[in-house]
Amino acid sequence: MADKAGEGAVAVTSGLDWQYAPAPESRDVVAIAPRYGLFVNGEFTQAASGRTFPTINPATEEELTVVAQAGPADVDRAVAAARTAFEQVWGPMPGSERAKYLYRIARIIQERSREFAVLESIDNGKPIKETRDVDIPLAAAHFFYYAGWADKLSYAGFGPDPRPLGVAGQVIPWNFPLLMAAWKLAPALATGNTCVLKPAETTPLTALLLAEVCQQADLPPGVVNVLTGAGGTGAALVAHPGVDKVAFTGSTEVGIAITEKIAGSAKKLTLELGGKAANVVFDDAPIDQAVEGIVNGIFFNQGQVCCAGSRLLVQESVAEQVVDRLRRRLATLRVGDPLDKNTDLGAINSRRQLEKITELTAAGEAEGAERWSPPCELPSRGYWFAPTVFTGVSQAHRIAREEIFGPVLSVLTFRTPQEAVAKANNTPYGLSAGIWTEKGSRILWMAQRLRAGVVWANTFNVFDPASPFGGYKESGFGREGGRHGLAAYLDA
Ligand code: NAP
Ligand code: MG
Repeated sequence: MADKAGEGAVAVTSGLDWQYAPAPESRDVVAIAPRYGLFVNGEFTQAASGRTFPTINPATEEELTVVAQAGPADVDRAVAAARTAFEQVWGPMPGSERAKYLYRIARIIQERSREFAVLESIDNGKPIKETRDVDIPLAAAHFFYYAGWADKLSYAGFGPDPRPLGVAGQVIPWNFPLLMAAWKLAPALATGNTCVLKPAETTPLTALLLAEVCQQADLPPGVVNVLTGAGGTGAALVAHPGVDKVAFTGSTEVGIAITEKIAGSAKKLTLELGGKAANVVFDDAPIDQAVEGIVNGIFFNQGQVCCAGSRLLVQESVAEQVVDRLRRRLATLRVGDPLDKNTDLGAINSRRQLEKITELTAAGEAEGAERWSPPCELPSRGYWFAPTVFTGVSQAHRIAREEIFGPVLSVLTFRTPQEAVAKANNTPYGLSAGIWTEKGSRILWMAQRLRAGVVWANTFNVFDPASPFGGYKESGFGREGGRHGLAAYLDA
């Protein structure tokens, strides 16, 4: 099967003395149209201004297609459609009826999962094994999960008859495009709200495919609207007076700008922002298992994960051993063609993100930390960054404080549990943390003291729609997922 996307993005890590044969997933399962419109009131339409922008494959820099760029007039149109649908159809509809649509969407995502997985890999750069095994199944699972709540809201703990808020304006990032869309849409729809969703500029395609799925599921027009565009589109959406609820996932910087902009309005707000998670390894941890968890924590999705375990805190007595085994493991990671089923690390999502990673890692070296990467030949075209580990990192270094959002691990050490807690919490963020130890009591002791929304014990980056997710401090507020996730969309 020809793999056009993968040309020039083949081969890669040479930590092994033999190579895997190429195992490309077929790109033919996806038909990418030459241009895409906005999804407003159940139909695809061009932007009022006629403006478009390209989206590219970050593994090859190939232009995939052009997408309509929504402006203020389109935001008006989409919000009006969502308002009408809320008042006339979706709001009054019994929860048991709404559930049927959500179940239908979930099933269609499953049926079309291969198409979604390939499209997500092409537009985002992430490996097919992740889109196939994580992004797409979890997106379907969110719709299934919240479908189950739609007719049980009276028993969810928000009073006997909790009401929806109205029109939700939802802005999402590029790192998990379909999954973030599902996290936003599923709870909003289950609770009776209607939605206007703004996907990220570099990854609009799976949100548009999801819009097509909404059509296929016969979702009433206006219940879900998708406006593609850049930051300005998002800004116009959240500021629109017809929006009752704003849900944002992205950078802390933009989160703050949105908070300022809607302050004083009646809009309800939830923010899911950045992170700088500590992954804490004690000397009694099963080291091989911990190494797998460290790798998963920081190299999953090229480290472009808000809850990535980007700061490894390892107990001094085992630090050398852990770093040694980690280096040996990293030498076996395969970096390259995202559509190859053997690929562990795909492309960085954009040139801009690659520049940010490059700048921060240069700062790490300049500030005196020791940089290491396995031997790793990167494709000449596209946006690539080798898995990187910094040792000798101090808490003052930028690479220990700032979110890099790339495949870069900063290693720090500690001697006592108290010191581990102090260092783990020494960050403006508080989204997630990991603990590796054989001792159950220590897990509980640590989890009580870590200021993080999610604490994983002897595992990392495990997600379930039933489990709430969200941050403390500059990582945002509000929870997505689980029963807690309903609260963000109810007038309770
Ligand atoms: P970003 O620049 O904040 O963008 C996020 C979304 O907001 C994009 O759709 C973006 O559009 C849009 N946007 C940009 N400026 C805006 C404005 N002034 N008003 C309204 N919307 C605006 O973040 P990013 O760089 O794409 O994503 C990476 C960040 O997201 C990281 O910091 C990461 O930690 C965070 N993140 C958090 C979570 C979580 O659950 N907590 C999950 C994923 C990512 P464009 O795409 O056109 O710029
Ligand atoms: Mg793209």
